[in-house]
Amino acid sequence: MRIGVPKERLERERRVAIVPDVVRRLRAAEHEVVVEAGAGERANVADDAFVAAGAEVGDPWACEVVAKVAPPLDDEVARLRSDTILVGFLNPLGNPAGLEAIAATGATALAMEKIPRISRAQSMDALSSQATVSGYRAVLIASTELPRFFPMFMTAAGTVPPAQVLVLGAGVAGLQAIATARRLGAVVTGFDIRSAVKEQIQSLGAKFFEVEGLGDAEAAGGYARELTPEEQQLQRDALSVQMGKSDVIVTTALVPGRPAPKLIPASAVEGMKAGSVIVDLAAEAGGNCELTRPGETFVTDGGVKIIGPLNLPSEMAEHASSLYARNILSLVELGFDPSDEVVSGATVTRDGKVV
Ligand code: NAD
Repeated sequence: MRIGVPKERLERERRVAIVPDVVRRLRAAEHEVVVEAGAGERANVADDAFVAAGAEVGDPWACEVVAKVAPPLDDEVARLRSDTILVGFLNPLGNPAGLEAIAATGATALAMEKIPRISRAQSMDALSSQATVSGYRAVLIASTELPRFFPMFMTAAGTVPPAQVLVLGAGVAGLQAIATARRLGAVVTGFDIRSAVKEQIQSLGAKFFEVEGLGDAEAAGGYARELTPEEQQLQRDALSVQMGKSDVIVTTALVPGRPAPKLIPASAVEGMKAGSVIVDLAAEAGGNCELTRPGETFVTDGGVKIIGPLNLPSEMAEHASSLYARNILSLVELGFDPSDEVVSGATVTRDGKVV
């Protein structure tokens, strides 16, 4: 197959869908790769590196498969043909009009967000690979914004206590945030409404926060269900004391297809010490903190810094692209057989229709 790699054109998208290492593997399997000039520039991959790995620099939109990161812009959609297979993060739930436009071209589109979370598809699971980047990066941002140390220090000038970090939501991003904060020496507490993650949190050396009276909220596919208003109140009340003790809160809680649950009310932010930091990884879905402004960083009157990043993987474009490119490689290796459950699960447009 010929696989095309366009240059991502959104200002805040630095990643590229394929990297030279993956070009080599695709070439070894007799595929051809065509990259748009400058496609890897913002992920530190020069055109020469692509060419050295066996890619051509040319028009990616003329290829059978077009591999993107972000959803295509209008003029990119206009380049799709009825026999194109488009793969990328297509935001199927948040961008129905965009999907309709892709469907109208007759192209087959696979949304990386819809790759089933089953063992066989783990190597294609781009949500997980990119969430790993976000969880890691969120903690590093918090550590540089916090005017305090993460680890405990015993020095001749006195003893510094370790930072208290609270991680809300312990899926892929949350567990990575917990692991990263532990590596930096903080005392970490994790919380999730799926009881299954308790052991995972503890195995990383963090405490699991128990909310008395709140049962397991695991739903189909291992995801969380949305809590009832009563359960949400129970959770907020139980967590408010822990929030007040925290120097850093990293939130990652999401429920598929729903706005992000509001776990941190404004009153809890008021209860935090000045200088404390909240990094809200759910900003894109509206935020887990009532005060989060998606895409912005600001300091409250009480001195708490609230950061609502929109695309952290893009800030670590080099490794985020490498991991994503491996996900795409696995998908190409699987082939695009529509009867395969991974392919059919990820397919969002086919034969002129949104499916
Ligand atoms: P996600 O990004 O959808 O959500 C993040 C976390 O927020 C989840 O752990 C969820 O339980 C939690 N959450 C939701 N509402 C909450 C609330 N009110 N309070 C606290 N926490 C709340 O999750 P994810 O990282 O995509 O993982 C979702 C599931 O998929 C997990 O069970 C994970 O183990 C599973 N998974 C499977 C595979 C695979 O087999 N291929 C790969 C990755 C993840």
